[in-house]
Amino acid sequence: MHTKEVMEFYKSIGVKPIINAAGPLTRLGGSRLDAEVLNAMAEASASFVHIDELQAEAGKVIAQITGAEAGYIVNGAAAGLSLATAACVAGLDVGKMDRLPDTAGMKNEVVVQRGHRNSYDHAIRAVGVRMVEVGYLGHPGAGSTQPWQIAEAINAHTAAIACPILSTTGTVSLPEVCVIAHAKRIPVIVDAAAQLPPRSNLRRFIAEGADLVVFSGGKSIGGPQASGILAGRADLIASVALQHQDMDVTAATWNKRALLAEGKLDGIPHQGFGRAMKVGREEVAGLITALRRYVSGNDISDSVYWCSVLDIIQPMIDGISGVRIERSQSTSKPIPTLSVHLDQNLLGCSGYQLVNMLLEGDPPIAVGESYADLNIIVINPQGLTEVEADILGLRLQKLLLAMR
Ligand SMILES: *Cc1c(COP(=O)(O)O)cnc(C)c1O
Repeated sequence: MHTKEVMEFYKSIGVKPIINAAGPLTRLGGSRLDAEVLNAMAEASASFVHIDELQAEAGKVIAQITGAEAGYIVNGAAAGLSLATAACVAGLDVGKMDRLPDTAGMKNEVVVQRGHRNSYDHAIRAVGVRMVEVGYLGHPGAGSTQPWQIAEAINAHTAAIACPILSTTGTVSLPEVCVIAHAKRIPVIVDAAAQLPPRSNLRRFIAEGADLVVFSGGKSIGGPQASGILAGRADLIASVALQHQDMDVTAATWNKRALLAEGKLDGIPHQGFGRAMKVGREEVAGLITALRRYVSGNDISDSVYWCSVLDIIQPMIDGISGVRIERSQSTSKPIPTLSVHLDQNLLGCSGYQLVNMLLEGDPPIAVGESYADLNIIVINPQGLTEVEADILGLRLQKLLLAMR
């Protein structure tokens, strides 16, 4: 239904749609929105609401689904990291909120294990904090951070500990990090942007003690590309709301004026650090609808469907000489994939060359290139329809057969 209109639009501005076998990547647009999600967004757009009220009610849905005290909708997991950090630095202090990202004289250090450094910590540093690294990389492979190193790095300037969920080994586990942090009353921020499925992770990191957890809305949840979830402590989420929402309000009419009367705030904050990361009511409606759909599904039936999509492709390229196919499915991340290993000597084609050949074809096809340096391309079924899987299988077959 929507595909035709969308194709017309892309055509009208001269952009070629891509078949996405690389997974829900931001640079390709994330995931496909279900009609129910698109309808919720269109419906939300038809009426005006108080955004603070909408966020508060959406937050209750997130809290219920994640087991956290409170929740909030952000415009991506990266924005969630920025807002989480801003909340840990400023709390409910309106003066501090106003000064960000100048953190002079505030708690402005975020402790992180060296094995957890990744390029998304730019979103944390954007708040004006300094990353304080502890631990080592590599040798010995296991135990490259010791718990005491985290404890020792915490001081009067520590705003938070950042604990992204990554596959690096040798790092201190989240539950242990939380015990160390909480003994010194320091919050732990968890980047779980890409940790779905399994669905159980929606509750897991909160249950393990995280104070704030971010998930991407535009990846496996199937929400709008510019959406994300922040779940965690109510006081920190309250700080996020104040630093994020439109503060062009007056004390006489502000929806949250009770905070002033109760003495919880010294005054109305100005437009805050997070104002540049605004979230529309369409994104809130889309993400909540997608999230409800997601939790009503289950990992096994998703996996069965994805396997059936890969089953369309695999026979078309199996048995071609110089090509080895591997079906992988790790237990920690139940998304089945098809890895295509190329024998570069026999085929005269590298992984990167095949990636480019697929992208330069008509229609362009994007595949996973994380292992292309090893001459492996990876097919991720999350963004593929059965029709697209067929097109991909035939294209790969044709290209691979022509190489010998
Ligand atoms: C994708 C990702 C993000 C960013 O998520 P967005 O929703 O696109 O902002 C952050 N951290 C990690 C580890 C990710 O994989």
